[in-house]
Amino acid sequence: MKKRILVTGGAGFVGSHLCERLLSEGNEVYCLDNYFTGQKQNVVHLTSNPYFEIIRHDVINPFLIEVDEIYNLACPASPVHYQYNPIKTIKTSVMGAINMLGLAKRVNAKILQASTSEVYGNPMVHPQPESYWGNVNPIGERSCYDEGKRAAETLFRDYHAQNDVKIKIVRIFNTYGPRMHPNDGRVVSNFIVQALQNHDITVYGQGDQTRSFQYVDDLVDGMIKTMNTDDSFTGPVNIGNPGEFTILELAEKVIELTGSKSKIVYQPLPSDDPLMRKPDISLAKKALDWEPTIKLEDGLTKTIAFFKDAIK
Ligand code: NAD
Ligand code: UDP
Repeated sequence: MKKRILVTGGAGFVGSHLCERLLSEGNEVYCLDNYFTGQKQNVVHLTSNPYFEIIRHDVINPFLIEVDEIYNLACPASPVHYQYNPIKTIKTSVMGAINMLGLAKRVNAKILQASTSEVYGNPMVHPQPESYWGNVNPIGERSCYDEGKRAAETLFRDYHAQNDVKIKIVRIFNTYGPRMHPNDGRVVSNFIVQALQNHDITVYGQGDQTRSFQYVDDLVDGMIKTMNTDDSFTGPVNIGNPGEFTILELAEKVIELTGSKSKIVYQPLPSDDPLMRKPDISLAKKALDWEPTIKLEDGLTKTIAFFKDAIK
């Protein structure tokens, strides 16, 4: 049956892939965005589908639409972008959650929150299971994002407990793929763009901090599977690829796959940069029958092909 689905942040990197998949599965999709970090270009190829609509709107303001499901992704995700206007970032997470939960309550829609591994902060438990409460600095450079996302999880939990809103929370770990913004400052896009231009590859710190990188198609699968669980399942559930790499290993892999002449240079590590990150995905495997299938090398190859075209 055709569902009416609202995707906030739909013109962003992840949102555009999600809109594409939901449309291809035969749904009617409303893509809402204020274009802070997203672009119309990411979804323009979908506009010939009569069941796709783009809405310019900022989630800090209320919005009313009749829908069956809401995916709430609106929020800048790269540290460079979310630190550009930190007050706006936390407002987007908190007021956006209140407005979208209010909408879900009013029209009786199911709502999924794009939360993040950043709720674990600089983790003292490794890998991170959903039961870990995290190690987050409330007054640091990353706090506007981390605490905003944590408060949003609380709001989701409370609208569910107090008003019976049907909620799902996914905690997304570092995701990469085509349509990342070339200038958004995240490590995969930075390294690929630098390598393709034979510029220095900027490793922050010694490059021994780790991340676990997930290809965007795996994430989209995990999000849709979570939305389709029965109402008793609310999450939070980790969606990420447990393959863990140091940032230096990533730099070397990108140089190898692009055949670049770039040199690695070392720059200061930003404050509160988590030293390690790797999802425990036991819950996703059990509750969603989901696990990632795309290996780093394969995902990077597809992403490199995208950037070759995008920065030409
Ligand atoms: P992105 O920056 O490409 O997309 C975010 C989108 O939200 C953009 O299109 C932006 O214009 C829009 N937006 C921002 N503020 C808004 C506002 N106030 N009103 C309406 N729209 C607004 O980032 P992404 O990587 O696609 O991330 C999507 C979601 O997934 C975010 O909520 C992010 O926190 C979450 N997430 C992503 C990752 C990742 O690695 N990509 C990891 C963890 C969580
Ligand atoms: N990083 C880096 N060089 C860059 C961009 C990022 O070494 O040009 C590092 C950053 O310090 C962090 C990791 O790569 O340790 C991942 O950074 P990103 O901004 O992609 O995401 P997050 O820190 O939010 O996981």
